[in-house]
Amino acid sequence: MIAEVIVDIAHSDVDKIFDYVCDNTVKAGMRVAVPFGRSTATGFVVRVKETSVYPADKLRAIYRTEDDIPAINAECLALAEKISARYRCPMALSLRLFLPAEMRTGKVSRNFREYARLSGDLPPISPRAKAQLACVAYLEEHGEAPLAELREKFSSAVNALIKSGAVAVEKRRMLRVPYKSAEGEEERHVLTPAQRGAVETIQRTEKTVSLIHGVTGSGKTEIYLTLIAAALREGKTAIFLVPEISLTPQMFMKLRGRFGSEVAILHSGLSAGERFDEWERLRLGEAKIAVGARSAVFAPIENIGCIVIDEEHDGSYCSEASPRYNTFDVALLRAKHNGCKLVLGSATPAVDTYRRAMSGEFELITLPDRINARPMPKVDIVDMRREVRRGNATPFSIALREKLKACLDGGNQAIIFLNRRGYAQTVMCRDCGNVVKCKSCDVALTYHSDEDCLKCHYCGARYRPLSACPACGGTHIHYMGTGTQRVVGELKKLFPAARILRMDVDTTSGKEGHYKILKQFADRGADILVGTQMVAKGHDFPSVTLVGILDADMSLHFPDYRSGERTFQLITQVAGRSGRAGAEGEVVLQTYDPENYILRFAADYDYRGFYAHEIGMREAMMFPPFVKVVRVMVTGEDERETLEALRSVYGKLQRVYAAHEEDFLFFNRMHSPIKRIQNKFRYQVLMRMTQNGPLREVYAAVAEERQKNVLVYVEENPSNLS
Ligand code: ADP
Ligand code: ZN
Repeated sequence: MIAEVIVDIAHSDVDKIFDYVCDNTVKAGMRVAVPFGRSTATGFVVRVKETSVYPADKLRAIYRTEDDIPAINAECLALAEKISARYRCPMALSLRLFLPAEMRTGKVSRNFREYARLSGDLPPISPRAKAQLACVAYLEEHGEAPLAELREKFSSAVNALIKSGAVAVEKRRMLRVPYKSAEGEEERHVLTPAQRGAVETIQRTEKTVSLIHGVTGSGKTEIYLTLIAAALREGKTAIFLVPEISLTPQMFMKLRGRFGSEVAILHSGLSAGERFDEWERLRLGEAKIAVGARSAVFAPIENIGCIVIDEEHDGSYCSEASPRYNTFDVALLRAKHNGCKLVLGSATPAVDTYRRAMSGEFELITLPDRINARPMPKVDIVDMRREVRRGNATPFSIALREKLKACLDGGNQAIIFLNRRGYAQTVMCRDCGNVVKCKSCDVALTYHSDEDCLKCHYCGARYRPLSACPACGGTHIHYMGTGTQRVVGELKKLFPAARILRMDVDTTSGKEGHYKILKQFADRGADILVGTQMVAKGHDFPSVTLVGILDADMSLHFPDYRSGERTFQLITQVAGRSGRAGAEGEVVLQTYDPENYILRFAADYDYRGFYAHEIGMREAMMFPPFVKVVRVMVTGEDERETLEALRSVYGKLQRVYAAHEEDFLFFNRMHSPIKRIQNKFRYQVLMRMTQNGPLREVYAAVAEERQKNVLVYVEENPSNLS
């Protein structure tokens, strides 16, 4: 037999199929060790065939297989090929998406545990060997026991029994199960008519994709769970994608409570061993539901009955490493391959998604009301310019302070949301206006009071706080902006008795970091949760009746065509944390731009109004989804090499441009807005092209670039133009 092998080396020079002689135990999807040049390489078998076009004496044999059952199933092999073709990346890179990283590096061990039981024939035991007799009696009573436990109880007698053949030992694989503490109790609801209608529509429609546009608290989760349960009843499997599983412990508990160990969780916060074991449970069919962030879309399962993408608008569904796949596109391929439904859900669908639903491409299901007709929290817009004029220099308006007091007095919880982190944001010299920047990244530094240092959020570099301006020597150094720490500090002054939790990138490091903070808040271990974007995600805290949004307009000023959409989404999501249970919820939205239409639509929960306005503007300004923004990034440590690579790729792209000029609205090369990040120079070729523009040619041009020390890659509609 002949195995077609892709060697696991991500370089386009070796991105082709190599034939190796193999025996009939080798199957497509297995990893194998093969001779490669003068060394040994790991490879993936993509196909097994009878004969090769190469003469037999030219072929080498594989050394061994690394798996007893294929690591990558047939569907996933085909999918890897499509991904490689679409994003012009070596097959090795696409195939890696389907394996847990620890499997490739071989750093993870399988856990085994030894069990002892009596073997069939019991040789005679001397009546003087009391311990041996006791051990035999113990095993007779218990059937079997972990070997370690027996050793502890009967010490060396155990070994004697094993030696005499009285006791047999068996090694068993132990799969580590993460989040043991999350074993939740089952919570199940009778579906409301709206929920039932949604389930039926999704099951009945001819369309593969359904979009559930349901306000926060409309019970979307229960719909997903019903669909997943139905898939399982048919003997099928399911994939459930969430933006970041560590941010939604309740979601995970709900799943565990309902489906028990049939749920496997895949995410980066797990230990290597746990992650590997969860993946194995899926591959072996022990678990049937893969839950996780975007990479869970590559779960090693077959016979998929349902794929769910919760919070489909979330930016985390776009990969930031090569291949820069879009999770929706991959999920759609899998749904079509399996003939199953793909369900998207959001209170604030991406403009692009909603447009496709409106056009009839997706089934659109609208849930305009919360469960039990609970009202949406009322949003109070506060003009912060007035507060400043009145001499209020704190981050809290008078209205917010009063409402916070009432909320806490009533024994309820509050969330304070702000769009930044650190004590104070940028550091500016008031004498000359100089903003202090990172030497290697060229972005503004942030002051952190707990460590009394300035930090670069892009590379983590630390600098000593300044006493004088490095540009002019002036001494009027001003710390601008408000960070979570300062907000917590001010809150403590205003409400000394309140228990306050802070959640941002600084406090959530480590495994289960988010989870612990959120659990503590959910268990009412605190009264106020202060945090950045992370607190906006889909949490369900029944006692939260007040949400304060500080500087709501902050995110409007990002240099991104989606900043309006992002702001609308953030505000709606964070407002939706308020008043989810009995008591009515309130939201205070503080802004320096109270007339802003995005904020107005958000305060009125008017998604349709927002959409109509936004889509009109996108069309007028020629932004996605009407065109494609395509950026080719060129980054490297050496400025000269980087510039050379830029020149080379730019030349190729220019030829693409010249051949398709009518498809381009914009074509230009420049420094990227942040010139350096982590000591790497960054240049870009920015393009805007029609939807049918020559995207494939752009990928092809970039794939030809093979400089050693310079990275060149394509981004489609990049979410961040820094
Ligand atoms: P969404 O995901 O749309 O924001 P959730 O699924 O979190 O909404 O549901 C909001 C709340 O309503 C949750 O506390 C959930 O337990 C509850 N809930 C969902 N469906 C029902 C139902 N059919 N009957 C009663 N309560 C429900
Ligand atoms: Zn830096």
